[in-house]
Amino acid sequence: MKVKNVKINKKFVDKYKKGYPLILKKALLEEVVLEEGNVIKLLDERNKFIALAYYGIQNKGIGWILSLNEKEIIDFKFFEKKILSAIKFRENYYNSSITNAFRVFNGEGDGIGGFTIDYFDGYYLINWYSKGAYKYRDYVINTLKKLTNMKGIYQKKRFDNSGKFIDEDGFVLGEKSDFPLIIKENNVNFAIYLNEGAMVGVFLDQKDVRNRIKRSYSRGKTVLNTFSYTGAFSVYASIGGASKTTSVDLANRSYAKTIEQFSINEIDYENEDIVVMDVFDYFNYAIRNNFKFDTVILDPPSYAKSKKRKFSAAKDYKDLIKDVIKITKKGGVIVASTNCAAFDMKKFKTFVDDAFKESKSNYKILEEYKLPRDFKTLKSFPEGNYLKVLFIEKNS
Ligand code: SAH
Repeated sequence: MKVKNVKINKKFVDKYKKGYPLILKKALLEEVVLEEGNVIKLLDERNKFIALAYYGIQNKGIGWILSLNEKEIIDFKFFEKKILSAIKFRENYYNSSITNAFRVFNGEGDGIGGFTIDYFDGYYLINWYSKGAYKYRDYVINTLKKLTNMKGIYQKKRFDNSGKFIDEDGFVLGEKSDFPLIIKENNVNFAIYLNEGAMVGVFLDQKDVRNRIKRSYSRGKTVLNTFSYTGAFSVYASIGGASKTTSVDLANRSYAKTIEQFSINEIDYENEDIVVMDVFDYFNYAIRNNFKFDTVILDPPSYAKSKKRKFSAAKDYKDLIKDVIKITKKGGVIVASTNCAAFDMKKFKTFVDDAFKESKSNYKILEEYKLPRDFKTLKSFPEGNYLKVLFIEKNS
């Protein structure tokens, strides 16, 4: 494949030289005709080399930097080298006797943006985020075949606008798995479906937060888990000794999925509350009935649209916290989480501060979390570390 030259606006040259990995459309000096997957050479206005990259349209940008070395050859070996060092970086997870699900390759954090690889007890799941990235599938798949003892590979085409993301069941090669595939994380079981839409049953990026809640914010506590999906936080809280968990999610599927997660951990789901309801309606109901919880977990999607309302984390998180303050006991803890890349931790803290001030309530931030170690990120790309979690004690 012929390498195409692309000139970069002066203003952006330094940014790329310092390791910023994402090609922004506005950084291009002129229009160039490119095809998905094209290797491109970024040049400054005087035609001096900046970086090698590939073209792949995502909502974030139009491609990813691959190397700052002009002599680098983008071939199977290049992919193999990056994936091998990613695997080595996760050795402790591969060797763990209590966890067998984790992220193996985190896109740009591991040197090639546009795709991720997760491990689920011998099965690898690749998420492709652009058609351009997908052009490199043979390199990635053959590398996994060569370097690992995999049982099988599944994939999701997240660039597929139909929202289906998988052809048939997403199976690529190796041995097919039965679903659910039961994996463990910190000795807690989860039922995983690699053959469904975008979500597989658990979000691996919350593993440290889940563990923290289990260890220090559950014993003897009433725990409310909002936007609960399959109830992963509730399962950890229950194992951690919660007197009762309440899981609230709007999606009908969440009821059966939450029962399943409790059941495979030998927790009697009949002692727990699983509520299929809009969280905002639940708050009104809880406020009316004067319910108060010791620990409240708040992990909404960045955007959500239900019949009644639209939610955007960037606009509405403060109001969400104000509602939660009303149903949290004095001395209780709110675990506020967001995966919204549109704002940073500093901004997130202003939402918390404003919510408490407007509620005439006091608080203390006890702990903060970002992405766990297996979700490797770059210092030069802080927005890649999208997860922000605050443990907030309500003092009055
Ligand atoms: N906290 C979960 C992941 C949340 S995914 C975990 O750690 O596993 C987001 C969830 O929010 C989805 O399951 C979706 O159904 C739910 N959701 C979106 N809008 C909602 C609303 N208004 N009320 C309740 N649940 C909602």
